[in-house]
Amino acid sequence: MRQRAARNQKLLDSGSVGSAKDLTNLQHEVGSLAKRQSDLEDVVLEIMERLESGQTRVSEMTARRDEAERSVKEAEERRDTSYGSIDAEVEKVTRDRETLSAAIPADLMKLYTRLRTQNAGIGAARLFQRRCEGCRVELSITDLGAVRAAAADEVVRCENCGRILVRTSESGL
Ligand SMILES: [Zn+2]
Repeated sequence: MRQRAARNQKLLDSGSVGSAKDLTNLQHEVGSLAKRQSDLEDVVLEIMERLESGQTRVSEMTARRDEAERSVKEAEERRDTSYGSIDAEVEKVTRDRETLSAAIPADLMKLYTRLRTQNAGIGAARLFQRRCEGCRVELSITDLGAVRAAAADEVVRCENCGRILVRTSESGL
């Protein structure tokens, strides 16, 4: 279109256009070509602006995605660290348990293991302020009396859940 406008302008400038009618037509065409060119330039400008804002948006979204990926990576690292320390703790507790088991009489260990299986993984519970911490039931006066009367090395059990009761200075006896 620019070429055509330039050619027309050259034709006009050269004065080689013959009739007044041709001249008017040519001037008219030059005018409308200039108008179209200006319109097209506006369109191009608008497209470029939209492209620019689109690119800005893409940059923003990319930055946000990178940030999210970083957060996920950090969370994964924290999780892996936690797994590591949990594994180490499980290992230590398992070792401690083995050491302790060896020191407990076989028949008591057998009773404990059976109760543990029957009672959701807890075979022994602390007697705390007259309450069995296995089933949370408070011992009756009679049961408390029996526990109080039992020898220190005697195995006492909760009348409600059957778990072995562990007596401490906070048992409320
Ligand atoms: Zn109980």
